[in-house]
Amino acid sequence: MSPHDIEEGAGAAGPLVSLFLELVRIPSPSGFEREVMDFLTNRLRGLGLEVGESAPLEDHPGSAGNLYCRLPATSSGFPIMLSAHADTVASEEGALPHPVLEGGFIRSGSRAVLGADDKAAVAPIIHVVERIVHEQIPHAGIELLITVGEEGGLRGAKAASMEGMAAACGFCFDSTGPLGGMVVKSPSQKTVRAAFAGTSAHAGVAPEEGRSAVAAAARAVAEMRLGRIDGETTANIGIIRGGEAVNVVPDRCVIAGEARSHDREKLENQVSAMLDAITFAATVEGVDVETQVVDEFHGFDLSEGNLPYDLARRALERLGIEPRPVTTGGGSDVNVFILKGLPCLNLSVGMEKVHTPDEYISVEALRRMEDLLLALVEEARG
Ligand SMILES: [Zn+2]
Repeated sequence: MSPHDIEEGAGAAGPLVSLFLELVRIPSPSGFEREVMDFLTNRLRGLGLEVGESAPLEDHPGSAGNLYCRLPATSSGFPIMLSAHADTVASEEGALPHPVLEGGFIRSGSRAVLGADDKAAVAPIIHVVERIVHEQIPHAGIELLITVGEEGGLRGAKAASMEGMAAACGFCFDSTGPLGGMVVKSPSQKTVRAAFAGTSAHAGVAPEEGRSAVAAAARAVAEMRLGRIDGETTANIGIIRGGEAVNVVPDRCVIAGEARSHDREKLENQVSAMLDAITFAATVEGVDVETQVVDEFHGFDLSEGNLPYDLARRALERLGIEPRPVTTGGGSDVNVFILKGLPCLNLSVGMEKVHTPDEYISVEALRRMEDLLLALVEEARG
């Protein structure tokens, strides 16, 4: 298919598909979102809306921060936040997205990742805002939060200020699988890191003078219960790093891992068991150890009776789409927003094979996203 054909196809498929194609043609791997954010900002300002942007992430000062935009309410009801991320995973060096629309599906057409994750959400959000403004569709207040750096560890969301937001709840659109998926449950996660500090010595000449940090780290890991701890809890040590040469007793070794659980108390217990194993191993091997535990995200259980769940369920049912509550083991911007106090639901967008060059989205899914957004706006209206 030539670029000319794509344009023709896109034109026939309507403004939403054209917008999506325009967006995916702008490369925006995490940390390099400047161009795509400028595009979105211009588009929203063109509607007469005020657009704000937070400071860029520290290590990418030349890039963009999160985009905020508010549509003041024109009706009573619950103000809602609509959120998606503008960054994508990085593509193979030099590969640029060259989207191909064929048989009702949009694919990358090159070795570059298409970026439907998460532009298949960003495009319908912007398109629906345009429709709301142009067609004067009544709503109870809409706040947009388009984040950066999601793929790099939810960094935009972590830096986002939710203060001053009027939204009663939020919807993120960043889950794979067909429309109808609602992430209602997610575990809490903590990461654990331990840096063992022993004493180096020549391994052949004076090993008794050494204190091996690698031996301590190995003992610590061996003492831990890892893998699936129970139906709700998992644990893993994913990194062990130490030693310089085969003939030197190593004085430095670092281990790092994580634990997740749907039950906060079980998570606490698992993390303390891991810390106990670390302290025990350090004592036995006679080395020092420094530990660090980081709260990566708090889990949630947002089912029946929660505002975003109820609104989303009603919106999906109105469209004849069966709501599919799902549990996730991983984190998304939603975990961070909930931690900051805003009840948020992550909904499926219909993108498939994300983070690979085979990623695709159907035109039908984009259209249904538009319908879903409008149905949510309508349900939130009093
Ligand atoms: Zn995503």
